[in-house]
Amino acid sequence: MPRGKVWLVGAGPGDPELLTVKAERLLRGADVIAYDELVTREILALAPKDAERIAVGRRAGGCRHHEARIHPLVVVRALEGREVVRLKGGDPLIFGRGGEEADELAAANVPFEIVPGVTAALAAAATANIPLTHREVASSVTFATAHASSEDTGEDLAARIPKHGTVVLYMGLGRVEETLSALVRAGRSPSTPAAVVSRAGLPGSRTVKGTLANLASLVALARLEAPAVILVGPVVASAVASPRQSSAFAAIEPAPRRSR
Ligand code: SAH
Repeated sequence: MPRGKVWLVGAGPGDPELLTVKAERLLRGADVIAYDELVTREILALAPKDAERIAVGRRAGGCRHHEARIHPLVVVRALEGREVVRLKGGDPLIFGRGGEEADELAAANVPFEIVPGVTAALAAAATANIPLTHREVASSVTFATAHASSEDTGEDLAARIPKHGTVVLYMGLGRVEETLSALVRAGRSPSTPAAVVSRAGLPGSRTVKGTLANLASLVALARLEAPAVILVGPVVASAVASPRQSSAFAAIEPAPRRSR
């Protein structure tokens, strides 16, 4: 029997308009769709009504370590000769286990192709008008997880993160305080600007800005919802990031309204 194919597709942050044209085309023609919980209903609605839908993983969108394996039905359907769209939130290769799923597909002799998506860091930067690099204040950007493993300590985090430039931390909303104080212990000034962007590219997105010293308490007060990323570095206080006020710190700002 001819083998099918698995498309490992980035669905972006949730807004269907932030899908790539290729992701949308594959989704509209999908025979089988396997999706994480971070993928929104609006995006799934683009697939044909009669496409088979397979829900994969739990709330964290397949980021947890014990969820390493690809869903067995994905492999079964491909071996039956069907085309499977494996939709992942953001980009499949950024904290999305796309690499591991690709390895498993290769081991099972299933052809696959990876389609990139807009990762949360980029969606958060755009939502909050925070440039990730800036000619004067940041010439590098690091994407890191605040949550590498259950044994991970703040010190491990600090050792993994460069002392300069912009840092975007994924999976950190549950441990903002530990995460930010680890960065201070690692040598960043407590006055370094930092922000949390919740639900980037989704309705009800909010941004809370502060410093490494005070952001955790501001975030607790604001009761931000997951998913969220933490942005750290002088770019958070750049002119673009704070167009109307010179001191935007401690301000809780709704995301700018989208045109749609
Ligand atoms: N592959 C995804 C990341 C999956 S890990 C990507 O490329 O974006 C899940 C983490 O991503 C969450 O804990 C959160 O930190 C971040 N995240 C995902 N969607 C988000 C969104 N819409 N807004 C803010 N952060 C988001």
